[in-house]
Amino acid sequence: MSVFESAAFEGHEGVHAFFDAASGLKCFIAIHSTARGPAAGGCRMWAYDSEQAALDDAMRLSRAMSYKNAVADIPFGGGKAVIMGEAAAKSAALFEAFGRAVESLGGQYWAAEDVGLTPADLAHARTASRFIAGLDAGPAASGDPSPVTAEGIRRGIALCVRRALGRDLAEVTIAIQGVGHVGASLADKLTADGAVLTVSDVNPAAAEAVAARTGAKVVAPEAIFDVDAQVFAPCALGGAVTAQTLNRLKATIIAGGANNQLAGPDVGAAVYERGVLYAPDFVINGGGIINIAAEVRALDRGEAYDPAWVEAKVARMIETLDEVLARSQAERRPADDIAIEIAKARIAAA
Ligand code: NAD
Repeated sequence: MSVFESAAFEGHEGVHAFFDAASGLKCFIAIHSTARGPAAGGCRMWAYDSEQAALDDAMRLSRAMSYKNAVADIPFGGGKAVIMGEAAAKSAALFEAFGRAVESLGGQYWAAEDVGLTPADLAHARTASRFIAGLDAGPAASGDPSPVTAEGIRRGIALCVRRALGRDLAEVTIAIQGVGHVGASLADKLTADGAVLTVSDVNPAAAEAVAARTGAKVVAPEAIFDVDAQVFAPCALGGAVTAQTLNRLKATIIAGGANNQLAGPDVGAAVYERGVLYAPDFVINGGGIINIAAEVRALDRGEAYDPAWVEAKVARMIETLDEVLARSQAERRPADDIAIEIAKARIAAA
């Protein structure tokens, strides 16, 4: 394995490997930057094909967290943890061992929930480390971040619609791909705004439940790219926008919650060339990490979770999105490139 030759390693302050024979923990914690504060990012548990794949994922995601936290203007750098293994390998002992790993970094890294983890898993880790956030009990607890993520996306979509279509959300047609925690909450909010929805999910029951509440039309997962909608909101897994799916989309706006929506570096330019307004994912979906930051802030100060602080940060995030879109238009460059520049400038200024 050639860690240092991997392009993903570039710019990292440190990459740590942890092994606990008793519980079977195999984990990497990548710390990309602590320039703006302790590195923060979720812990993902996944059955990776190889150690290299797990390591690359940790490093790719930790860099993305540096950018996301900088554009959200929260006092965090970027980091990420990955635990190798199937869900069946989960145990209290495994997450306690993970907690010890996090604690050994002395506060350089704060862990929260990501794919494959639950608040209950985090509670086990918390018994061994102070540096675990995203809990669902206690005065500082911030609970499920998804509704805050969805609220940021709702406001981001409203901004894009104002800029591109010169109207509010009433009767705007929106196709949502994936109605899990974020997508379902977003669907409820957009329905309240009067938008007309089409939804898809690989889990038909999830799509039907949202349709029953909101009156959304349900289409098969693959058909979501052909829907005649003004906005496409990817809220499932990464890589939804490829050269092929972009050609099928009728939407003039892409704005949703999924991480890594663009399948590759060239896709951002293709989106721009096509005249589609794209809200960079790591700008518009920062509500969840803002919510986590509020918990860390409360723990640091010995205070309760403060919803007013969260509201101010979400409002600021939407201002940053507006700045990104305005500069993209003025400078005739992809929004993604502008957003990365803003993030890098904020990290360098720290
Ligand atoms: P989730 O697992 O609750 O929901 C994802 C949904 O997408 C599931 O219902 C799943 O069945 C569905 N899905 C998967 N593949 C699909 C496909 N090809 N077509 C249609 N549906 C598909 O996850 P979530 O917490 O809602 O997160 C959704 C996305 O948002 C992820 O990319 C996540 O990384 C990102 N995100 C989440 C948060 C948060 O606060 N939860 C914050 C920032 C970013």
